Amino acid sequence: MTKVLVVEDNLMNMELVTFILTAGGIDVTQAFDGPEALDKIKEKTFDLILLDIQLPGMDGIEVIRNINTDKVVLNTPIVALTAHAMQGDEQKFIDAGCVGYISKPIDISTFVERVNSYIAGGGAKPEDT
Ligand code: MN
Repeated sequence: MTKVLVVEDNLMNMELVTFILTAGGIDVTQAFDGPEALDKIKEKTFDLILLDIQLPGMDGIEVIRNINTDKVVLNTPIVALTAHAMQGDEQKFIDAGCVGYISKPIDISTFVERVNSYIAGGGAKPEDT
């Protein structure tokens, strides 16, 4: 079963993303902040990490830096979840080590498909318009 770690501090977004991915046959592990995400990564291997960039305390970029020091997960693709307000900052997330990004609010009709395509190694894709 495909395993995805979702890092998101907003409870409603977390529940929505979890519901959609679970319905799509993906095993979801939740983390509500950076330190929790780093703990989960040590416990389990994931096929993909969906990472909210705007997190309280340790932000997403800092989480990526911490992840990248852990060689075990070096090959796990990270996809940034970005708020609409962060448009234009996408290159920053790619530079930090994300294979791509999905902007919020998420498009429910294509979300699972996009996640699966990132897992399949689709790499960075232009954002849907
Ligand atoms: Mn957030």
